[in-house]
Amino acid sequence: MPEGDTIFRTARALGRALSGKAVTGFRSTYPLLTRFHDDTPLTGQTVEQVESRGKWLLIHFSGGGTLATHMLMSGSWHIYRPGERWQQPRFNMRIVLENSEYIAVGFRVPVAKMLKPQELARAARIPVPIIDVLSESFDAVEVARRVRAHGTEEIADVLLHQEVLAGVGNVFKSEICFVTGTNPFCRVAALDEAKVAALVATSQRLVCANVLEDSGDAIVTYGGRKRRTTHESDPTASLWVYGRKGEPCRRCGEPIRTRLQGPDARVTFWCQVCQPMPDGLEVDG
Ligand SMILES: [Zn+2]
Repeated sequence: MPEGDTIFRTARALGRALSGKAVTGFRSTYPLLTRFHDDTPLTGQTVEQVESRGKWLLIHFSGGGTLATHMLMSGSWHIYRPGERWQQPRFNMRIVLENSEYIAVGFRVPVAKMLKPQELARAARIPVPIIDVLSESFDAVEVARRVRAHGTEEIADVLLHQEVLAGVGNVFKSEICFVTGTNPFCRVAALDEAKVAALVATSQRLVCANVLEDSGDAIVTYGGRKRRTTHESDPTASLWVYGRKGEPCRRCGEPIRTRLQGPDARVTFWCQVCQPMPDGLEVDG
């Protein structure tokens, strides 16, 4: 599952190839998309903007339509020059969008729909920009309010709710809890306002740091001595706790623990010493 920073980088690359340019060709293996294109040809329209919202990628056209795609586990967008050899077989192609300079190909994109403006506004599963940690209109106060509305749930689970906070995936979840000294199993109601604010601010900071122009594909939260080296063969070398079961905590040396958490049984990593439960509370189980 790509995290929000991956989709953001894809949207940025697609935006550079497509934005402001007239569409010269459109094809899809999805009947609903080709029917939309038959009724309202995308050819001749201009791509106005490409944006990510959480794990959704949105391509806005000058005719008012928006192509919304979700990659789930399998999908990816590639950008080619005309005549360039594709790096995936043709039968994986789902969507092709062309202009005079580039061909954007969506391979195995499992969710794709064309939305009119009112449909986009009503699409409950597509996060609004104010809760997207990578959006310029991110509203930390509103997100903190949404987090606190889930008082009975464990904080690490709430960080994954895409209608609370968009763009944080399972790797960042553990890292954000560690950096803020928060026990991932603590119920939200037991966190004070300053802690919730710190969790929200840290979510934005860590994810944003991973979409800087010079950041590679690997998630980096731990600088260590070799800051932003992309040649590490071990992807967890740049993380505080994720994937480091049994290895010493980078702050205190205690072995990092792991456990499945929440209704979807997502893996969580944490340090029992650096991330204690608030006074008087114990971790269940
Ligand atoms: Zn520790």
